[in-house]
Amino acid sequence: MYQKLFLILTTSLFSYSFCQENVSARNNGILVVEDLHLEQLESGKIHKLWLQLGENELSEPIKVPVLIAKGDGTPKVLGLTAAIHGNELNGIAIIHQFFSKIDVTKLKGTIIAIPGLNSLAVARNQREFLDRVDLNRILPGKPNGNGSEQMTYKIGEKIIPLFDYHVDLHTASFGRINSLYGRGDMKDETLASMLQVLEPDIIVSNRGKASFGSASGLTMRAFAISKGVKSVTMEYGNPQVYQKDMIERGVKGLKNLIIHLGLREGEIVTSTIDNICSKSYWIYTDKGGYLDVKVSLNQKLKKDELIAILRNSFGELIATYRAPEDGIVIGKSTNPVNISGGRIIHLGILEK
Ligand SMILES: [Zn+2]
Repeated sequence: MYQKLFLILTTSLFSYSFCQENVSARNNGILVVEDLHLEQLESGKIHKLWLQLGENELSEPIKVPVLIAKGDGTPKVLGLTAAIHGNELNGIAIIHQFFSKIDVTKLKGTIIAIPGLNSLAVARNQREFLDRVDLNRILPGKPNGNGSEQMTYKIGEKIIPLFDYHVDLHTASFGRINSLYGRGDMKDETLASMLQVLEPDIIVSNRGKASFGSASGLTMRAFAISKGVKSVTMEYGNPQVYQKDMIERGVKGLKNLIIHLGLREGEIVTSTIDNICSKSYWIYTDKGGYLDVKVSLNQKLKKDELIAILRNSFGELIATYRAPEDGIVIGKSTNPVNISGGRIIHLGILEK
């Protein structure tokens, strides 16, 4: 009987209000849906749903959590996605806290948030999907492809097209830390203003075109842009942790953003971000050893300034690394263990 009920409920949102109490025994009270039909959701409410993106080994839905704050009838939709890299968690807390503060009665339009997009990877404390593929490199995926390709195809079909505006929330990856920085095309007026009100320390201006060595696909941002969605990426600090300051700043930035986009009334108190980089790149070691990075996040560097030293297993100095040009430290390695080709710092080159 439960199974029958479950099937009925997963097929349509129409049953949502009618049967909500009955679902709780199976789904923590949250309905599992195949697709998000915004028009079927009541305005003036925050809705919680599980969106099915494929099936697991038990033939059960692979679920991702979806929060939808549905304001008045304005069709404008802001999308927030966190943890397409499963070990990047600050964005999850940012969405949770941001949603706890939304007054949906004053909202003009809709906010859709996915706090934990790569849910199978989140559960495993890992960046990539189960097949160890980076989902944020292979959009649009393939409907009949392998595991990660089918997953990204569903993200591209079921989620991204719902958005008019999009913020993809990330952090650094394992063994590295990031400043609070944003990526987007600063030549696009809408994207530039979105990045400014999100209040990062640094903005890296680029169009998000994919260029990932052997990987052939797009990032979620580049895919969203290709679909006409105004999309930016935000990097909030460090992997696999909740950082209070990053989370607070993230929530404040999103509050600014919804006012800026006209999703609610209010005043934005923000200062202009001056640290705008026209490009950025990683600097790598050429030898293996124990790496000691000497610079801090957001530190401005002069050409030839010392950035790191490398010692061998006996403590002898075997290499020193210097800034190849003037720049600013966007990210850095925190893991001393390096084979040759290890990352040292992510250097941003500030616009003149
Ligand atoms: Zn990431």
